[in-house]
Amino acid sequence: MHKNFETKAIRTQMERSHNAEHSTPLYLTSSFLFEDAEEMRAAFAEEKKMNIYSRFTNPNATEFVDKMVALEGAEDGYAFASGMSAVFNTFAALLNAGDHIISSDSVFGSTHSLFKKFLPKWNITTSYFPASQLQEIESLITPNTKVIYAESPTNPGVEVLDLEELGKIAKRNNLLLVIDNCFATPYIQQPIQFGADLVIHSATKLIDGQGRVLGGAVVGKKELIREIYLFARNTGPSISPFNAWVLSKSLETLAVRLDRHCETAFHIAEELEQHAKVNWLKYPFLKSHPKYALAKKQMRLGGNIIAFEVKGGLDAGRNFLNAIQMCSLTANLGDSRTIVSHPASTTHSKLSDDEKAAVGITNGMIRMSIGLEHREDIMNDILQALEKL
Ligand SMILES: *Cc1c(COP(=O)(O)O)cnc(C)c1O
Repeated sequence: MHKNFETKAIRTQMERSHNAEHSTPLYLTSSFLFEDAEEMRAAFAEEKKMNIYSRFTNPNATEFVDKMVALEGAEDGYAFASGMSAVFNTFAALLNAGDHIISSDSVFGSTHSLFKKFLPKWNITTSYFPASQLQEIESLITPNTKVIYAESPTNPGVEVLDLEELGKIAKRNNLLLVIDNCFATPYIQQPIQFGADLVIHSATKLIDGQGRVLGGAVVGKKELIREIYLFARNTGPSISPFNAWVLSKSLETLAVRLDRHCETAFHIAEELEQHAKVNWLKYPFLKSHPKYALAKKQMRLGGNIIAFEVKGGLDAGRNFLNAIQMCSLTANLGDSRTIVSHPASTTHSKLSDDEKAAVGITNGMIRMSIGLEHREDIMNDILQALEKL
C-alpha cells in the first residue's frame, strides 16, 4: 500500500517483541543471542538477517535508518554516531589513495577540514567549485576524480545549488554525486530524485530538532551502502541505540515541525527584509533570493535558516548578538529554540574578507535558525535588538 511521507515517518517500525509494545522500546544491549550453532553460523555467514553485535547493527539503529531510507527514497542506508562520522566513513570506505574529490566551496566547516587537513594524509585530494558556478565543475575533473560533493542550501550563506544539474554533470562524467541534505531534510527535498547516488545527514540538527543527541546517516545505492557498512562495522562509528531511539521518535514529528519552522522563518524573513537597519536578507523562498525560481522547483519549503546583514559591519553584528534577549547564542541549528550566530567573528573568523565573500559571508552578517517559539516573540526579540544598534 502506498504511504505518504508523514505516514512512513511514523509507521516504519521494527517488529514488536512478545510484549506487543506499541511504541518502539530501547534495546540497550551490546550483543544478541543465538538458538544454536547452526543459527549462529547462518547469522555470521549473512544467510540469516539477524543482529549479532551492536557495533554492526542494533534494532534501534535499524529502525532509524529504515525510516531515513524510506523518506529519502533510497535503496539502503547505515546510521552513524554523528554527521561527521557519516561523512568521513563514506569517503574512507569508497575512496582509495590517489582519488580526487570535487566539492562545493560552501560546505560544513568540519567537512572542509577533512578535505583540507586529513584526507591528504591518504593522498586523497579535493578541488573546489564556487557554489554558484556549477559550470566550473567539469574543468576540475581529472582521471582520478571519483566524487562530486555538495550541500544545498549552504551554510551560512543560504545559497541554493541546482541538484538536477549536479546529477546530470555526475552522470555524464561517471562520477558519484554525494549530497549533504542536512539543511533541507528529506521533507523539503530528496536529492536521489535529482540523481544523487548517496545522501548524507547530520541528524543532530533538524531531525532531532530539540538539540539533544548527535547522530548521522548515509542512504543511497545498495552496493555503495554495502561498502560503507563493511567499513563501518570494522571501524566502530555506529550510532548508540539510545540516540537512534530518540532520532526515530523525532522523525515521527519531522513534517509538522518543519511546516511550522518554515512558515515562521518565511514570515520573519519577509518582515525583516524591509527593516531600515538590514542591508540585505537571504531566504530561498523570498523573490529577492538569486535562486528563487530554482528553490521553488526543487524545495517543498524554504527551510528554517535565514541570513541577513545588519548595517554597521563587524561591530554591529556583535552588538546585535549582545542585544538579543531570548534567542540562544549557540553553535547548533535546527533546534526548537531559535539560534543566532555571527559567522564573521566565530566559525569563519580565520577567513580573509575575500574568502568570506566567496562563501557569502560579510562582517555584519547574522545567521538565524528559526525555532518553534511563537513567531511574534521571536520577531520582538529581533526588533528590540535591531533598535539598540
Ligand atoms: C552539523 C553538520 C554536519 C556535522 O554533523 P554532526 O552531527 O555535528 O557531526 C555536517 N553537515 C552539515 C551541513 C551540518 O550542518
